[in-house]
Amino acid sequence: MLGDKILSMLKDEISQIEYDRYIKNLSYDTESSKVDLAVFNAPNPFIANWVKTKYSKKLSQLFELETGIETAVEIRIKKQKIAKTKEAAPKEQQPSSTSTKINPTYTFENFVVGSSNQFAYTAAHRVAEKPGQVYNPLFIYGGVGLGKTHLLHAIGNFNIPKNKTIIYATIEQFMNDFTYHLRQKTIEKFREKYRKCDILLIDDIQFLSGKEGTQEEFFHTFNELHTEGKQIVLTSDQPPKRIAGLEERLKSRFEWGLIADIQPPELETKIAIIKKKCELNGITLSDEIINYLAANMDSNIREIEGVILKLNAYSSLVNQQITMELARNVLNEQKREQQKEISLKEIVDIVASELNIKPSEIKSKSRNRQIVNARRMVIYLARNLTPNSMPQLAQFFGMKDHTSVSHAMKKVKELIEKDANFKLKIDELIHKIKHTRSEEL
Ligand code: ADP
Ligand code: MG
Repeated sequence: MLGDKILSMLKDEISQIEYDRYIKNLSYDTESSKVDLAVFNAPNPFIANWVKTKYSKKLSQLFELETGIETAVEIRIKKQKIAKTKEAAPKEQQPSSTSTKINPTYTFENFVVGSSNQFAYTAAHRVAEKPGQVYNPLFIYGGVGLGKTHLLHAIGNFNIPKNKTIIYATIEQFMNDFTYHLRQKTIEKFREKYRKCDILLIDDIQFLSGKEGTQEEFFHTFNELHTEGKQIVLTSDQPPKRIAGLEERLKSRFEWGLIADIQPPELETKIAIIKKKCELNGITLSDEIINYLAANMDSNIREIEGVILKLNAYSSLVNQQITMELARNVLNEQKREQQKEISLKEIVDIVASELNIKPSEIKSKSRNRQIVNARRMVIYLARNLTPNSMPQLAQFFGMKDHTSVSHAMKKVKELIEKDANFKLKIDELIHKIKHTRSEEL
């Protein structure tokens, strides 16, 4: 195809690293392209912007060279369809075995210890050294991006050379796996896997809330492993007591061993973490820049990492050292992107797919209870996660004025107050929306 040919011509003119990072991610849009217009799709705004500024002129020249026709180049952002992930991996499909894989870079050595995470780190390390013998279960809780998943994998990595059977899974994977085997009538297989391991590492256990069937299964899994002296490690965003919609018998079991929290890192730890990530990624930053980043970024380490990688990408593109100015620009851009990136459409798609209704129904005027409910949730989430004003939301939904939006907000707030399960659903949706976005980036 013409578009692909042009991309491979461009490949010869730029470095491999630039090609891999940016150009490889483009796809030629045959449907939208015309004789004098070439349209490429980029997977995210970051790549789209770079290609636009750095390569569109070059691409247009190459087209003209090839076809003899003056061609304009357009780079569009093509978001992955959120609902698609679900269709692509229907529950009937065997959940992939990669779900139990341990990330080899998440080790204790690569974990920077400071006063905010010292306690959790030490506890995890002791558990890794003596699985099933010191604290069982170990329950680690804390905010997003503070290193809970990293510590879980570190326990796994520590024990791989010791020939232990280790299972790492998010509670969602556990749940999908369970549902799958239940449907296939192969539940024995499932139990063989989860009840016969030496170390069970379960991430984000808060999403067990309100899922009675899975809670029951997890209860028995827990009991069997615990009786056998096998190690269980759990993470959550909350301590067990504060996870609503969780059976008391599970809450009390989760408190049997040790509960360790992770707090947001203080400035010094943030600096040390940035240095560590630079070292691991082969990136050189001046102390001035490191201090600037640490002081101006939130405590979410995943985001800090994102900025470091972006900085590196920019600097290798323009082939120059990372300057303070560049750091400032990248940080500002990241902050802007963060604000604008969640779109109403994304929220509608996620809520629709979670509640099993069509996105178009949410935007319709239907008074069906379920749809009204979904619409209210979208409004509430949009008000909390996007900069849209009430009148803007009213316009989006084709409502007369913002009073309907304000009414919806009131209803949702009331429900959150009095219905713990509803609150859970909202929390879960917020997590999904943020998560989907960070994966896309
Ligand atoms: P959580 O599970 O708490 O949301 P993660 O464990 O996924 O957070 O951490 C997010 C990112 O930050 C990961 O890349 C992880 O390696 C990194 N990270 C978090 N804490 C530390 C730390 N203390 N030292 C080094 N890297 C860290
Ligand atoms: Mg995590």
